[in-house]
Amino acid sequence: MISFSQAQEIIYNALKAPWLKTEYIPLQEAQGRTLAEEVTSEVDLPPFDNSAMDGFAVKFNPGIRSWTIKGEIPAGHYTDFIADPISTVSIMTGSRLPEGFDTVIPIEDVFVREDNVILNTNAMFTKGMNVSKKGQDLMKGQTALGKGTFLKSPQIAALAACGRGKVKVYEKLKIGVLATGDELTEIDQAPSGDKIRASNLYSILSAVREINMIPVNCGIARDSKEEIKSAVSSALEKCDILITTGGVSAGKFDYVKEVFTDIGIKTLFHRVNIKPGKPVLFGLMEGEGHTKPVFGLPGNPVSSLVTFYLFVKTNIMKCFGLSEQPPLRAVLKKSITKSDSKRHFVRGLVSRDELGVISAVPVGQQSSGNLVQMSMSNCLIVIEEERLNPQEGEEVECIMI
Ligand code: AMP
Ligand code: MG
Repeated sequence: MISFSQAQEIIYNALKAPWLKTEYIPLQEAQGRTLAEEVTSEVDLPPFDNSAMDGFAVKFNPGIRSWTIKGEIPAGHYTDFIADPISTVSIMTGSRLPEGFDTVIPIEDVFVREDNVILNTNAMFTKGMNVSKKGQDLMKGQTALGKGTFLKSPQIAALAACGRGKVKVYEKLKIGVLATGDELTEIDQAPSGDKIRASNLYSILSAVREINMIPVNCGIARDSKEEIKSAVSSALEKCDILITTGGVSAGKFDYVKEVFTDIGIKTLFHRVNIKPGKPVLFGLMEGEGHTKPVFGLPGNPVSSLVTFYLFVKTNIMKCFGLSEQPPLRAVLKKSITKSDSKRHFVRGLVSRDELGVISAVPVGQQSSGNLVQMSMSNCLIVIEEERLNPQEGEEVECIMI
Protein backbone atom coordinates (compact mmCIF):
# COMPACT_ATOMS: atom_id res chain seq x y z
CA MET A 1 0.00 0.00 0.00
CA ILE A 2 1.41 3.40 -0.92
CA SER A 3 1.37 6.63 1.08
CA PHE A 4 -0.85 9.62 0.47
CA SER A 5 2.03 11.71 -0.89
CA GLN A 6 3.21 8.91 -3.22
CA ALA A 7 -0.33 8.64 -4.61
CA GLN A 8 -0.45 12.39 -5.21
CA GLU A 9 2.86 12.29 -7.03
CA ILE A 10 1.79 9.41 -9.28
CA ILE A 11 -1.47 11.14 -10.24
CA TYR A 12 0.11 14.52 -10.87
CA ASN A 13 2.89 13.06 -13.00
CA ALA A 14 0.32 11.21 -15.09
CA LEU A 15 -1.98 14.23 -15.46
CA LYS A 16 0.56 16.97 -16.07
CA ALA A 17 1.68 15.50 -19.40
CA PRO A 18 0.89 17.94 -22.23
CA TRP A 19 -2.27 16.16 -23.29
CA LEU A 20 -4.74 18.97 -22.81
CA LYS A 21 -6.45 20.24 -25.95
CA THR A 22 -6.79 23.96 -26.61
CA GLU A 23 -9.43 26.25 -28.09
CA TYR A 24 -9.99 29.96 -28.78
CA ILE A 25 -12.85 31.56 -26.85
CA PRO A 26 -14.18 35.13 -26.46
CA LEU A 27 -12.68 36.99 -23.49
CA GLN A 28 -16.14 37.37 -21.90
CA GLU A 29 -16.26 33.59 -21.49
CA ALA A 30 -12.71 33.14 -20.24
CA GLN A 31 -13.25 33.60 -16.49
CA GLY A 32 -12.42 30.34 -14.65
CA ARG A 33 -10.44 28.97 -17.60
CA THR A 34 -6.69 28.52 -18.02
CA LEU A 35 -4.56 30.35 -20.54
CA ALA A 36 -2.86 28.08 -23.08
CA GLU A 37 -0.61 30.78 -24.56
CA GLU A 38 1.76 33.48 -23.40
CA VAL A 39 0.22 36.93 -23.85
CA THR A 40 2.38 39.96 -24.50
CA SER A 41 1.26 43.54 -24.84
CA GLU A 42 1.67 45.41 -28.14
CA VAL A 43 1.34 48.73 -26.33
CA ASP A 44 2.90 50.28 -23.23
CA LEU A 45 0.54 50.14 -20.26
CA PRO A 46 -0.37 52.83 -19.57
CA PRO A 47 0.28 54.06 -23.13
CA PHE A 48 1.17 57.65 -21.99
CA ASP A 49 2.10 59.54 -18.81
CA ASN A 50 -1.22 60.35 -17.17
CA SER A 51 -2.70 61.86 -14.06
CA ALA A 52 -3.65 59.64 -11.13
CA MET A 53 -5.79 62.38 -9.57
CA ASP A 54 -8.14 65.21 -10.44
CA GLY A 55 -6.01 68.31 -9.96
CA PHE A 56 -3.41 70.55 -11.56
CA ALA A 57 -0.41 69.59 -13.71
CA VAL A 58 2.72 71.63 -13.04
CA LYS A 59 6.39 71.66 -14.01
CA PHE A 60 7.92 71.01 -10.60
CA ASN A 61 9.95 73.76 -8.97
CA PRO A 62 10.34 73.54 -5.16
CA GLY A 63 10.30 77.31 -4.71
CA ILE A 64 7.00 77.92 -6.51
CA ARG A 65 3.69 77.45 -4.72
CA SER A 66 1.23 79.30 -6.95
CA TRP A 67 0.47 79.04 -10.66
CA THR A 68 -1.65 80.54 -13.40
CA ILE A 69 -4.24 78.26 -15.06
CA LYS A 70 -3.59 78.00 -18.82
CA GLY A 71 -6.41 75.61 -19.71
CA GLU A 72 -7.75 72.14 -19.06
CA ILE A 73 -7.41 68.59 -20.42
CA PRO A 74 -10.41 66.30 -19.84
CA ALA A 75 -9.54 62.56 -20.02
CA GLY A 76 -9.41 61.53 -23.68
CA HIS A 77 -9.06 65.13 -24.99
CA TYR A 78 -5.35 65.90 -25.10
CA THR A 79 -4.03 69.33 -26.09
CA ASP A 80 -0.49 70.74 -25.94
CA PHE A 81 0.46 73.49 -23.51
CA ILE A 82 3.78 75.27 -23.11
CA ALA A 83 5.42 74.09 -19.89
CA ASP A 84 6.95 76.64 -17.55
CA PRO A 85 7.25 76.68 -13.72
CA ILE A 86 4.51 79.25 -13.15
CA SER A 87 1.84 77.74 -15.45
CA THR A 88 -0.63 74.99 -14.63
CA VAL A 89 -3.26 72.98 -16.51
CA SER A 90 -6.43 71.67 -14.92
CA ILE A 91 -6.30 67.92 -15.40
CA MET A 92 -8.50 64.91 -14.58
CA THR A 93 -7.74 61.36 -13.50
CA GLY A 94 -6.59 59.50 -16.62
CA SER A 95 -5.89 62.67 -18.65
CA ARG A 96 -2.65 62.53 -20.61
CA LEU A 97 -0.09 64.84 -19.01
CA PRO A 98 0.91 67.73 -21.27
CA GLU A 99 4.52 67.51 -22.52
CA GLY A 100 6.99 69.08 -20.06
CA PHE A 101 4.65 68.89 -17.05
CA ASP A 102 5.81 66.31 -14.53
CA THR A 103 3.77 66.64 -11.35
CA VAL A 104 0.07 66.66 -10.42
CA ILE A 105 -1.24 68.50 -7.36
CA PRO A 106 -4.58 67.12 -6.16
CA ILE A 107 -7.49 69.53 -6.24
CA GLU A 108 -7.96 68.99 -2.47
CA ASP A 109 -4.48 70.49 -1.81
CA VAL A 110 -5.02 73.87 -3.47
CA PHE A 111 -7.05 77.00 -3.24
CA VAL A 112 -8.36 78.31 -6.58
CA ARG A 113 -9.02 82.02 -7.05
CA GLU A 114 -10.05 83.01 -10.62
CA ASP A 115 -7.10 81.98 -12.82
CA ASN A 116 -4.75 81.31 -9.93
CA VAL A 117 -3.99 78.15 -8.03
CA ILE A 118 -2.35 78.45 -4.61
CA LEU A 119 -0.92 75.47 -2.75
CA ASN A 120 -2.35 75.00 0.78
CA THR A 121 0.28 75.77 3.41
CA ASN A 122 0.31 72.26 4.90
CA ALA A 123 0.17 70.38 1.53
CA MET A 124 2.92 67.89 0.62
CA PHE A 125 4.60 68.68 -2.68
CA THR A 126 7.14 66.39 -4.36
CA LYS A 127 8.39 66.05 -7.92
CA GLY A 128 6.54 63.46 -10.01
CA MET A 129 3.73 62.92 -7.54
CA ASN A 130 0.38 61.58 -8.80
CA VAL A 131 1.72 60.74 -12.25
CA SER A 132 1.29 57.24 -13.72
CA LYS A 133 4.27 56.87 -16.04
CA LYS A 134 3.99 55.44 -19.55
CA GLY A 135 4.75 51.68 -19.41
CA GLN A 136 4.94 51.59 -15.59
CA ASP A 137 2.49 48.69 -15.43
CA LEU A 138 3.93 46.81 -18.41
CA MET A 139 6.27 47.76 -21.24
CA LYS A 140 5.38 47.04 -24.85
CA GLY A 141 6.53 43.52 -25.81
CA GLN A 142 6.73 42.25 -22.22
CA THR A 143 4.76 39.23 -21.03
CA ALA A 144 1.49 40.17 -19.39
CA LEU A 145 0.39 36.62 -18.52
CA GLY A 146 2.20 33.31 -18.86
CA LYS A 147 0.89 30.07 -20.34
CA GLY A 148 -0.95 28.10 -17.65
CA THR A 149 -2.32 31.14 -15.82
CA PHE A 150 -5.72 30.57 -14.23
CA LEU A 151 -8.03 33.39 -15.30
CA LYS A 152 -9.94 35.39 -12.73
CA SER A 153 -11.14 38.97 -13.04
CA PRO A 154 -7.71 40.64 -12.54
CA GLN A 155 -6.21 38.50 -15.32
CA ILE A 156 -9.22 39.23 -17.56
CA ALA A 157 -8.49 42.94 -17.01
CA ALA A 158 -4.89 42.43 -18.16
CA LEU A 159 -6.02 40.53 -21.27
CA ALA A 160 -8.58 43.23 -22.08
CA ALA A 161 -5.89 45.95 -21.75
CA CYS A 162 -3.70 43.93 -24.13
CA GLY A 163 -6.54 43.98 -26.64
CA ARG A 164 -7.26 40.25 -26.52
CA GLY A 165 -10.90 39.83 -27.54
CA LYS A 166 -10.21 36.12 -27.98
CA VAL A 167 -7.85 33.96 -25.98
CA LYS A 168 -6.42 30.50 -26.31
CA VAL A 169 -7.38 28.35 -23.30
CA TYR A 170 -7.29 24.68 -22.41
CA GLU A 171 -10.47 22.84 -23.27
CA LYS A 172 -12.55 21.75 -20.30
CA LEU A 173 -12.16 18.05 -19.59
CA LYS A 174 -15.16 15.77 -20.04
CA ILE A 175 -15.23 13.73 -16.87
CA GLY A 176 -17.43 10.64 -16.91
CA VAL A 177 -18.93 9.27 -13.70
CA LEU A 178 -20.07 5.65 -13.55
CA ALA A 179 -21.57 4.14 -10.38
CA THR A 180 -21.35 0.39 -9.80
CA GLY A 181 -23.41 -1.80 -7.50
CA ASP A 182 -26.32 -4.25 -7.56
CA GLU A 183 -27.89 -2.44 -4.65
CA LEU A 184 -28.19 0.91 -6.42
CA THR A 185 -31.39 2.48 -7.68
CA GLU A 186 -31.98 5.73 -9.51
CA ILE A 187 -32.67 8.64 -7.18
CA ASP A 188 -36.22 9.18 -8.43
CA GLN A 189 -37.19 5.64 -7.40
CA ALA A 190 -38.14 4.61 -3.87
CA PRO A 191 -35.52 2.02 -2.90
CA SER A 192 -37.16 -1.28 -1.95
CA GLY A 193 -35.80 -3.97 0.36
CA ASP A 194 -32.02 -3.90 0.39
CA LYS A 195 -31.57 -1.22 -2.25
CA ILE A 196 -30.23 2.33 -1.79
CA ARG A 197 -30.23 5.40 -3.98
CA ALA A 198 -27.05 5.98 -6.02
CA SER A 199 -26.17 9.21 -4.27
CA ASN A 200 -22.52 9.05 -5.31
CA LEU A 201 -23.35 9.51 -8.92
CA TYR A 202 -24.76 12.92 -8.07
CA SER A 203 -22.16 13.99 -5.51
CA ILE A 204 -19.34 13.26 -7.93
CA LEU A 205 -21.10 14.84 -10.94
CA SER A 206 -21.61 17.93 -8.78
CA ALA A 207 -17.98 17.90 -7.62
CA VAL A 208 -16.89 17.79 -11.28
CA ARG A 209 -18.98 20.89 -11.91
CA GLU A 210 -17.37 22.53 -8.85
CA ILE A 211 -14.00 22.35 -10.60
CA ASN A 212 -15.45 23.85 -13.77
CA MET A 213 -15.15 20.68 -15.86
CA ILE A 214 -17.87 18.96 -17.92
CA PRO A 215 -19.65 16.16 -16.03
CA VAL A 216 -20.88 13.19 -18.06
CA ASN A 217 -23.41 10.95 -16.34
CA CYS A 218 -22.50 7.38 -17.33
CA GLY A 219 -25.22 5.82 -15.17
CA ILE A 220 -25.15 2.71 -13.03
CA ALA A 221 -23.57 -0.65 -13.84
CA ARG A 222 -24.57 -3.81 -11.96
CA ASP A 223 -21.96 -5.96 -10.21
CA SER A 224 -21.36 -8.14 -13.26
CA LYS A 225 -18.05 -8.26 -15.08
CA GLU A 226 -19.75 -8.07 -18.46
CA GLU A 227 -21.93 -5.13 -17.52
CA ILE A 228 -19.05 -3.19 -15.95
CA LYS A 229 -16.84 -3.96 -18.94
CA SER A 230 -19.30 -2.61 -21.48
CA ALA A 231 -20.20 0.41 -19.30
CA VAL A 232 -16.53 1.33 -18.76
CA SER A 233 -15.70 0.84 -22.47
CA SER A 234 -18.51 3.04 -23.68
CA ALA A 235 -17.86 5.63 -20.95
CA LEU A 236 -14.21 5.87 -22.02
CA GLU A 237 -15.30 6.71 -25.56
CA LYS A 238 -17.33 9.69 -24.32
CA CYS A 239 -14.89 11.29 -21.89
CA ASP A 240 -11.31 12.41 -21.22
CA ILE A 241 -11.22 11.11 -17.65
CA LEU A 242 -13.35 8.36 -16.14
CA ILE A 243 -14.38 8.09 -12.51
CA THR A 244 -16.08 4.96 -11.24
CA THR A 245 -17.50 4.50 -7.76
CA GLY A 246 -17.72 1.25 -5.84
CA GLY A 247 -16.40 -2.23 -6.53
CA VAL A 248 -12.73 -1.59 -5.69
CA SER A 249 -12.67 -3.14 -2.19
CA ALA A 250 -11.94 -6.74 -1.27
CA GLY A 251 -15.50 -8.10 -1.58
CA LYS A 252 -16.39 -11.12 -3.70
CA PHE A 253 -18.27 -8.96 -6.21
CA ASP A 254 -15.79 -6.09 -6.38
CA TYR A 255 -14.92 -6.58 -10.04
CA VAL A 256 -13.81 -3.11 -11.04
CA LYS A 257 -10.03 -3.62 -10.87
CA GLU A 258 -10.20 -6.94 -12.71
CA VAL A 259 -12.37 -5.44 -15.44
CA PHE A 260 -10.02 -2.45 -15.78
CA THR A 261 -7.12 -4.85 -16.36
CA ASP A 262 -9.13 -6.90 -18.89
CA ILE A 263 -9.95 -3.76 -20.86
CA GLY A 264 -6.31 -2.66 -20.89
CA ILE A 265 -6.30 -0.04 -18.14
CA LYS A 266 -2.91 -0.08 -16.46
CA THR A 267 -3.29 0.23 -12.67
CA LEU A 268 -0.73 2.68 -11.25
CA PHE A 269 -1.87 2.15 -7.69
CA HIS A 270 -4.61 0.42 -5.75
CA ARG A 271 -5.07 1.25 -2.06
CA VAL A 272 -3.59 4.21 -0.27
CA ASN A 273 -2.72 4.52 3.43
CA ILE A 274 -5.62 6.87 4.25
CA LYS A 275 -8.98 6.86 6.04
CA PRO A 276 -11.56 7.12 4.62
CA GLY A 277 -10.95 5.96 1.05
CA LYS A 278 -8.26 3.29 1.40
CA PRO A 279 -9.38 1.16 -1.60
CA VAL A 280 -8.96 4.02 -4.13
CA LEU A 281 -7.47 3.02 -7.47
CA PHE A 282 -5.79 5.02 -10.21
CA GLY A 283 -4.92 3.82 -13.68
CA LEU A 284 -4.32 4.87 -17.26
CA MET A 285 -6.06 3.72 -20.40
CA GLU A 286 -3.45 4.04 -23.09
CA GLY A 287 -5.12 4.16 -26.44
CA GLU A 288 -4.66 5.63 -29.87
CA GLY A 289 -4.72 9.41 -29.69
CA HIS A 290 -4.27 10.02 -26.02
CA THR A 291 -4.07 8.37 -22.63
CA LYS A 292 -7.12 8.60 -20.38
CA PRO A 293 -6.73 8.72 -16.61
CA VAL A 294 -9.17 6.50 -14.69
CA PHE A 295 -10.05 6.84 -11.01
CA GLY A 296 -11.74 3.95 -9.21
CA LEU A 297 -13.20 5.59 -6.11
CA PRO A 298 -14.62 3.53 -3.26
CA GLY A 299 -18.41 3.23 -3.08
CA ASN A 300 -19.00 4.58 0.40
CA PRO A 301 -20.53 8.02 -0.09
CA VAL A 302 -18.09 9.79 2.22
CA SER A 303 -15.07 7.91 0.85
CA SER A 304 -15.93 8.67 -2.77
CA LEU A 305 -16.33 12.39 -2.20
CA VAL A 306 -13.29 12.68 0.08
CA THR A 307 -11.07 10.82 -2.42
CA PHE A 308 -12.46 12.99 -5.21
CA TYR A 309 -11.44 16.14 -3.30
CA LEU A 310 -8.05 14.78 -2.32
CA PHE A 311 -6.96 13.15 -5.55
CA VAL A 312 -9.11 14.24 -8.50
CA LYS A 313 -9.83 17.86 -7.64
CA THR A 314 -6.40 18.77 -6.28
CA ASN A 315 -4.49 17.38 -9.23
CA ILE A 316 -6.79 18.63 -11.95
CA MET A 317 -6.80 22.11 -10.47
CA LYS A 318 -3.00 22.01 -10.26
CA CYS A 319 -2.79 21.06 -13.96
CA PHE A 320 -5.12 23.95 -14.73
CA GLY A 321 -2.91 26.49 -12.98
CA LEU A 322 -4.89 26.79 -9.77
CA SER A 323 -2.75 26.02 -6.77
CA GLU A 324 -4.29 24.45 -3.74
CA GLN A 325 -5.47 26.71 -0.94
CA PRO A 326 -2.98 26.25 1.91
CA PRO A 327 -4.66 24.28 4.72
CA LEU A 328 -6.10 26.34 7.53
CA ARG A 329 -4.50 25.90 10.96
CA ALA A 330 -7.09 25.49 13.70
CA VAL A 331 -7.30 24.55 17.37
CA LEU A 332 -9.02 21.20 17.91
CA LYS A 333 -12.11 21.65 20.09
CA LYS A 334 -12.66 17.94 20.79
CA SER A 335 -10.12 15.10 21.08
CA ILE A 336 -10.08 12.55 18.25
CA THR A 337 -9.38 8.84 18.67
CA LYS A 338 -6.79 7.59 16.19
CA SER A 339 -4.67 4.56 16.86
CA ASP A 340 -3.45 3.51 13.40
CA SER A 341 -0.73 4.81 11.09
CA LYS A 342 -3.06 5.95 8.30
CA ARG A 343 -3.53 9.57 7.32
CA HIS A 344 -7.03 10.50 8.49
CA PHE A 345 -9.36 13.07 6.97
CA VAL A 346 -11.97 13.77 9.63
CA ARG A 347 -15.10 15.60 8.59
CA GLY A 348 -15.29 18.71 10.69
CA LEU A 349 -16.61 22.19 11.18
CA VAL A 350 -14.21 25.13 11.23
CA SER A 351 -15.26 28.41 12.81
CA ARG A 352 -13.75 31.63 14.10
CA ASP A 353 -14.77 33.15 17.44
CA GLU A 354 -15.06 36.85 18.39
CA LEU A 355 -11.38 36.94 19.37
CA GLY A 356 -10.38 35.64 15.94
CA VAL A 357 -9.39 32.17 17.19
CA ILE A 358 -9.99 29.53 14.49
CA SER A 359 -11.13 26.18 15.84
CA ALA A 360 -12.27 22.87 14.39
CA VAL A 361 -14.60 20.24 15.77
CA PRO A 362 -15.30 16.78 14.29
CA VAL A 363 -18.87 16.34 13.00
CA GLY A 364 -20.93 13.17 13.51
CA GLN A 365 -19.73 9.60 13.95
CA GLN A 366 -17.18 9.53 11.12
CA SER A 367 -18.70 6.46 9.46
CA SER A 368 -17.89 6.37 5.72
CA GLY A 369 -21.57 5.83 5.01
CA ASN A 370 -22.84 8.89 6.88
CA LEU A 371 -23.32 11.25 4.00
CA VAL A 372 -25.86 13.50 5.71
CA GLN A 373 -23.39 14.07 8.57
CA MET A 374 -20.76 14.95 5.98
CA SER A 375 -23.15 17.52 4.56
CA MET A 376 -22.98 19.32 7.92
CA SER A 377 -19.22 19.73 7.75
CA ASN A 378 -17.14 22.36 5.99
CA CYS A 379 -13.66 20.86 6.21
CA LEU A 380 -11.50 17.78 6.45
CA ILE A 381 -9.36 17.78 9.59
CA VAL A 382 -6.04 16.19 8.68
CA ILE A 383 -4.47 13.81 11.20
CA GLU A 384 -1.07 12.86 9.84
CA GLU A 385 0.17 9.25 9.66
CA GLU A 386 2.44 9.32 12.68
CA ARG A 387 0.09 11.35 14.88
CA LEU A 388 -2.04 9.46 17.41
CA ASN A 389 -5.11 10.56 19.38
CA PRO A 390 -4.87 14.33 18.91
CA GLN A 391 -6.20 16.07 22.01
CA GLU A 392 -8.49 19.03 22.50
CA GLY A 393 -6.37 22.19 22.35
CA GLU A 394 -3.79 20.80 19.89
CA GLU A 395 -3.30 22.45 16.53
CA VAL A 396 -4.54 20.68 13.36
CA GLU A 397 -4.60 21.43 9.63
CA CYS A 398 -7.96 21.66 7.93
CA ILE A 399 -8.73 21.39 4.22
CA MET A 400 -11.78 23.49 3.42
CA ILE A 401 -14.40 21.71 1.29
P1 AMP B 1 -18.35 -0.84 -2.46
O1 AMP B 1 -17.22 0.13 -2.56
O2 AMP B 1 -18.93 -1.18 -3.78
O3 AMP B 1 -17.96 -2.01 -1.64
O4 AMP B 1 -19.50 -0.09 -1.67
C1 AMP B 1 -19.29 0.35 -0.34
C2 AMP B 1 -20.55 0.94 0.24
O5 AMP B 1 -20.94 2.07 -0.50
C3 AMP B 1 -21.74 -0.01 0.20
O6 AMP B 1 -22.45 0.15 1.40
C4 AMP B 1 -22.52 0.48 -0.97
O7 AMP B 1 -23.90 0.17 -0.88
C5 AMP B 1 -22.28 1.95 -0.96
N1 AMP B 1 -22.35 2.53 -2.30
C6 AMP B 1 -21.75 2.06 -3.39
N2 AMP B 1 -22.00 2.83 -4.46
C7 AMP B 1 -22.81 3.81 -4.02
C8 AMP B 1 -23.44 4.91 -4.65
N3 AMP B 1 -23.29 5.18 -5.96
N4 AMP B 1 -24.20 5.73 -3.90
C9 AMP B 1 -24.33 5.49 -2.58
N5 AMP B 1 -23.78 4.47 -1.93
C10 AMP B 1 -23.04 3.62 -2.64
MG1 MG C 1 -20.26 -2.48 -4.53
